[in-house]
Amino acid sequence: MEKKNYKRTLVTTALPYANGPVHIGHLAGVYVPADIYTRYLRLKGEDVVMIGGSDEHGVPITIKAQKEGVTPQDIVDRYHNIIKDSMAGLGISFDVYGRTTSATHRVTASEFFKKLYDNGEFIEKTSQQFYDEEADQWLADRYIMGTCPHCGNERAYGDQCEACGRDLNATDLINPHSTITGNVPVLRETKHWYMPLDKWEPRLRQWILEEHKEWKTNVYGQCKSWLDGGLQPRAVTRDLNWGIPVPIEGAEGKVLYVWFDAPIGYISNTKDLLPDTWEKYWKDPETRIIHFIGKDNIVFHCLIFPAMLMAEGTYQLPENVPANEFLNLEGDKISTSRNWAVWLHEYLEEFPGKEDVLR
Ligand SMILES: [Zn+2]
Repeated sequence: MEKKNYKRTLVTTALPYANGPVHIGHLAGVYVPADIYTRYLRLKGEDVVMIGGSDEHGVPITIKAQKEGVTPQDIVDRYHNIIKDSMAGLGISFDVYGRTTSATHRVTASEFFKKLYDNGEFIEKTSQQFYDEEADQWLADRYIMGTCPHCGNERAYGDQCEACGRDLNATDLINPHSTITGNVPVLRETKHWYMPLDKWEPRLRQWILEEHKEWKTNVYGQCKSWLDGGLQPRAVTRDLNWGIPVPIEGAEGKVLYVWFDAPIGYISNTKDLLPDTWEKYWKDPETRIIHFIGKDNIVFHCLIFPAMLMAEGTYQLPENVPANEFLNLEGDKISTSRNWAVWLHEYLEEFPGKEDVLR
């Protein structure tokens, strides 16, 4: 139910991933709608802040860096600046545009993890995971490819099959191989920390399915189908050398899973903007929080991040999570990997003074 008596609004926009520029699909789905909404509230004289920033951790960035022979920091520096400048060029009116490699974020995400750890909110689990002996490296997520056991796609990743959309565990893949060397990987034992999403399932069901029937049907429907399928514990740490180190003893060489740290980036960036008053935008029940996202982020913003906030205990949950469908270009799905897109930074160079035409 829409809260009637709010005093302020916090608008967050999905953090673009800093391994490529943004295209018009991102703009249509997230940034232009969020900007219109924020500008409207500002015109009405309401207290509103619009939070944006780059998501700079995770495996796709380390893979791109290895391919180009540069460091992950080089990759995120390059794309953070391209994205930030092009968003400003189009007039997206962020109050802050931060990054998840900032010092503030490192501290905020570490403290968040530490609090959940100290409160006993994680399950510790040892499991067998793939390791590339030649590269001397763990194979998290996209470092491993194989055949999807559900649909037979031969290019499924260790965490997801993009052909049928299912979530996978790397050990489910048929004929797994390392994307670094092409070798068949070996299984080794490793310890990780898991968020028991099943524990939060009853509260998530009540909060979304009973109290937020007004959410967009695509968002509500996807949440309902995940909840009806039953939530499982989900690992929130990875064996990787790029990310926020897991801030506890016995976790050397491990970092926070990118989808654990990225949404905390909204909080860190709010802190950088409002070091003295950020808390009222996140913890006061009279704040309305709205997450603008793309439809591929629904599970993270509607189930996983809220479960993290519930476990932490002092934060407000979002009032709404509008997600839009993907935009097509000449009838075909926009794709970064196939370079089928209109890139914002190229448009701005090509058509100076025509920002409003694109909007
Ligand atoms: Zn599949």
